[in-house]
Amino acid sequence: MQYIVVDMEWNQPWPGSYTARKPLPSPMRGEIIQLGAVRVLPDHTVGDEFQALVSPRYFKKMNRKIASLTGLHEARLREEGLPFPEAVARFRAWCGEDCAFLAWGFDDITVLRENLVLHGLDTAWADNWYNAQLIFNVQTNSGSAQKALSTALALMEIEPTRPAHDALGDAYHTALICARLDLAKGIAEYGGAVKSHENGFHGAELPGCLTRAVFHGYADKPAALAAMGGQENRCPACGGTMQVSRWLSQQGRRYMALAACPEHGQYLVRVRLSPDPDGTLRVSRLVYDGASEAAKLCREQAQKSRPPRRRRRRRAKPDAGETGA
Ligand SMILES: [Zn+2]
Repeated sequence: MQYIVVDMEWNQPWPGSYTARKPLPSPMRGEIIQLGAVRVLPDHTVGDEFQALVSPRYFKKMNRKIASLTGLHEARLREEGLPFPEAVARFRAWCGEDCAFLAWGFDDITVLRENLVLHGLDTAWADNWYNAQLIFNVQTNSGSAQKALSTALALMEIEPTRPAHDALGDAYHTALICARLDLAKGIAEYGGAVKSHENGFHGAELPGCLTRAVFHGYADKPAALAAMGGQENRCPACGGTMQVSRWLSQQGRRYMALAACPEHGQYLVRVRLSPDPDGTLRVSRLVYDGASEAAKLCREQAQKSRPPRRRRRRRAKPDAGETGA
């Protein structure tokens, strides 16, 4: 098995611009403009490197924030960038056969897949893909929180020597980390790492959060909320089915509702919906103690957003018409 550490930079249209509103043949959160990769060798050293600049086809105008972050500007991409299919072909030729791909975080693989699909290219070669963060977290015992690459380098006392926000620089630093990990073991145990990542706490929860869980495979929002308020709505104390109140919608496809166990009282259920790569919905759910501040805020909001009780119109008496006098 060859271990290939990959990092990409991608361009995004300026929010609200014409390009941002123009529909694409298939969804793409960013168009790849730089692809960097470093091979990690079986003897735990860093091997050869690959780099390609890509000339964008859909998001041609560089987002000025991304240009300043990456140092990549339109003129250079026009002059030195390869068309995406050619960059991919060169990359695959450099990789060779039987590869496991590693990247820091989940974003790079998603963006790569979206770019491949948009260009009508094969995606199967990139199926063997791992988030090195999760392997790092398990093997260094450093909790389940997602860490910036710079944080992980600091934890391993690795001095960065290459530029950040450069695909090859980031791939190189990630490779230095990966070279110190037991990648074969990490990959063998990856399924477990993903589960514990999904069900673990990430440091963004409010006080009073009791459980975190992730569910997959819902056709749409009503199906997801029905499951969260129905068969999946279990009391954290006894596992019994709870009753759920009305879902209140919050920012960014988030919903919250109060739930109650007849024996253990009230809880707050918060869910966030997001699309999975197969097009179904995934639900990330947090359950809070009913006495927590978060639950209190939910109760207040439920009170406020309660539809105003319709005032009962007093029927005019038949003999007291307005013009009656
Ligand atoms: Zn209960």
